[in-house]
Amino acid sequence: MSADRIDGLDRIEEHLAGPEEADALVDLSNVVRDVRLGDRRQQRSLDRLRLVIEALARRVGDRDVKVYAIADGSLRAPAGYPDRAQPRWLARWIDRGLVEQAEDADPPLLELADVTGLPVVSNDDFADFRVDHPWIQGDTTQFLGFVPILKGAGVLLRERDMGVRSPAQISRKLEESDLKRHGLLVGRNRRPLTEVVKRAWRCPERGCSLYDSRRGIAVRLPYVRQGVPLCELHRAPLVDDGPRTGIVQLKLLVDGACVHRFTLEADATVELGRSPDPDGIALYGLLPEGVRGRVSRRHLAARVEENVLLVRNLSAGGTRLRHHGAPEWKPLAEEFVPFHVNDVVELVPGVTVTRSARRYPPEIAAAWRGTARRLTGSGPAQAATESW
Ligand SMILES: [Zn+2]
Repeated sequence: MSADRIDGLDRIEEHLAGPEEADALVDLSNVVRDVRLGDRRQQRSLDRLRLVIEALARRVGDRDVKVYAIADGSLRAPAGYPDRAQPRWLARWIDRGLVEQAEDADPPLLELADVTGLPVVSNDDFADFRVDHPWIQGDTTQFLGFVPILKGAGVLLRERDMGVRSPAQISRKLEESDLKRHGLLVGRNRRPLTEVVKRAWRCPERGCSLYDSRRGIAVRLPYVRQGVPLCELHRAPLVDDGPRTGIVQLKLLVDGACVHRFTLEADATVELGRSPDPDGIALYGLLPEGVRGRVSRRHLAARVEENVLLVRNLSAGGTRLRHHGAPEWKPLAEEFVPFHVNDVVELVPGVTVTRSARRYPPEIAAAWRGTARRLTGSGPAQAATESW
């Protein structure tokens, strides 16, 4: 485990990324204020984020794992930190767009979770958000709780059973938090945006295919004015074209660090290998010289059927599969078998493929961030996000 240890706040920064690149979302206040982790004497410590990142790296099998952390506005105040450097680092991350700051972190955290499908590291129950986010009810996969191990020197992440809160429990929580939410009307008005980005849109103008979702996997998000999605070209209100198709994203890792991500299209089979057919994914240029030759020309086939990802071995040298939580590798079959988030296939020693938890294209997360900032004035002004 010592090899996985991240030292210092500058090393934490290497694991912070925008929601387009992140492997997980972190409820930063929840982590930083948990006195069971790390030094118990500290009310707050950014070092607790390090423990969570190390646990995530082990969980997803990527030592370069990236997280997008969302912080309550109050977390920036210097009180309670072990030194003055920590709140300065936090301010720097917020200014660089590596950490999202919101008056209340919960609404953006849950909206991003909803539009990306990424896991949320938090021990919070989110009882008062179950009306706005009914998907939390009964969820057993998307929330990762953290518990201290090794007397607080480490963290264990495990999937939480969020349970189902009764309407009575929810309304009591809502009343308690009503005052807190009263100042968040802008935040609540953002809600329709998650609905906009999760649906496909079509321009009513004849011949306009600007938003055509059937033209490959490129994503163009509508321009939204006062909650109405408009065609950028014709300024006409767009027609709802049904739910947006989810994506499946694979990560290629060399020696446990992600070197490339691929997005797979639904209902198509794609081959990965050193140099597969032109329709396949060529790994040649992505692999270091020493291992290139050991990967077969056609090594692995992947297929997405109704959001289920299937993989099968094509290589005479074999491919190994390890399901999430399983202790041992086993040979990957020649017939298609399901491949879940956090499962790993090994093409040759040191070259592995995993599946990201992301369920919508990264552009969605980018657009969400741009618009959320514009509406709330949080984070740095970013001219680029105005263009969509
Ligand atoms: Zn148009």
